[in-house]
Amino acid sequence: MNVNETRLEAVAPRLQGADDPARWRDWRWQLRNSLTSLGDVERALGIEFDEAERVLLEDTVRHFPMSVTPYYLSLIDVDDYRNDPVFRQALPSTEEIIVRDHDMKDPLAEDADSPVALITHRYPDRVLFRVANTCSMYCRHCTRKRTVGDTGCAPTSEELGAALDYIRSTPAVRDVLLSGGDPLMLSDARLDELLTELDAIEHVEVVRLGTRMPAVLPYRITDELCKVLARHQPLWLNTHFNHPAELTPDAEEALARLADAGIPLGNQTVLLAGVNDCSRIMLRLVHRLVANRVRPYYLYQCDLSEGLSHFRTPVGKGIEIIESLIGHTSGFAVPTYVIDAPHGGGKIPVMPNYIVSWASDRVVLRNYEGVICAYREPDDYKRAACTEECDDCDRSVGRSCPETGPGGVAGLMRECDQADSLVPDTNVRYQRRENGSADG
Ligand SMILES: *Cc1c(COP(=O)(O)O)cnc(C)c1O
Ligand code: SF4
Repeated sequence: MNVNETRLEAVAPRLQGADDPARWRDWRWQLRNSLTSLGDVERALGIEFDEAERVLLEDTVRHFPMSVTPYYLSLIDVDDYRNDPVFRQALPSTEEIIVRDHDMKDPLAEDADSPVALITHRYPDRVLFRVANTCSMYCRHCTRKRTVGDTGCAPTSEELGAALDYIRSTPAVRDVLLSGGDPLMLSDARLDELLTELDAIEHVEVVRLGTRMPAVLPYRITDELCKVLARHQPLWLNTHFNHPAELTPDAEEALARLADAGIPLGNQTVLLAGVNDCSRIMLRLVHRLVANRVRPYYLYQCDLSEGLSHFRTPVGKGIEIIESLIGHTSGFAVPTYVIDAPHGGGKIPVMPNYIVSWASDRVVLRNYEGVICAYREPDDYKRAACTEECDDCDRSVGRSCPETGPGGVAGLMRECDQADSLVPDTNVRYQRRENGSADG
């Protein structure tokens, strides 16, 4: 008997219609039979919440919707469900409705950076495009908890059209991230249409899909879907595994299908207290991911959305995990640890420090073992004189040379740029200077 059959047997008798393996593997059946009430979950798992807890949990589910696919539910170890990483990600906790001082409704200011509905344009060359508003499983740690799952605000075809128009008329956008909700909630035909529209936009060089389906509903990754995706290369897919227990044989089969279809795969993990805040769990997770041809991409610090306080770890926990990975395992198995800055500052990478000190001709570094060494820098390096006139440069980058170089901190490093400081407009000292000169 394989693992799938064991799981099926544990949950199937309590879920009507789950005893048929063909039906179990039908993603539409899984969606139709997702569990959305506490009573259904209790019956399926054979557990019982006590009365006081139930009152709080009912209240939580009214605030933030619950929906769990029978497949994902079947991964829960019922004998120790309260400590189970899948249970904690899928089922509400009484702590969710506690709103802390620093919690925010829209911590990443996705609304403020939204030129049209469904689009967040935060970085110069790429946009986030929320093509769906629902998911097959609502993660309790979802950043977009306040909007996701509200079927009343599903994207309309007018909104989708207007968002596509925005991308069409904004030549700077070379990378489009389809997100949601979960974009794989769309039918193959709708997805095909949307990807065809994006393919037709010349300045869009790559499209990315962000989906949790391989982890929570791997049966969504059908051969038909893979055929659709394969038609729209270059297409990258980022999935979302948080714990090695999610990499079941069914999930691995889904990942293999995608990889065989030629889709480059990445993974984004959220660092979650009580789920994966442990170096050994993370090591196991990244090893299992790369063994399945998935490159760990980001490890996210849990953000400041409402209802997530019980999942947050100190930033030090993330740095400790990265310290335990770099050098200790394959470089390509190590994700970049990022904090999504409040108010829309974007993702900020954070790392342990490896530069110990610096002299005019050498940099002193430490490695993962604690060995400290000096790297001698060249005595005769001459910075190439750059005017940013790439067309005239004998090291020409060619036709597609961007018109301006990077701004921000990178801009301070440019030779041809006069700027030598970045000053916030609220800087009091600068304001005083301005007022002083205006007054005479
Ligand atoms: C994360 C994100 C992106 C993509 O960032 P990458 O670092 O390129 O993966 C783009 N737009 C928004 C709003 C994002 O949150
Ligand atoms: S799959 Fe993503 S958008 Fe959907 S509930 Fe989970 S974290 Fe939120």
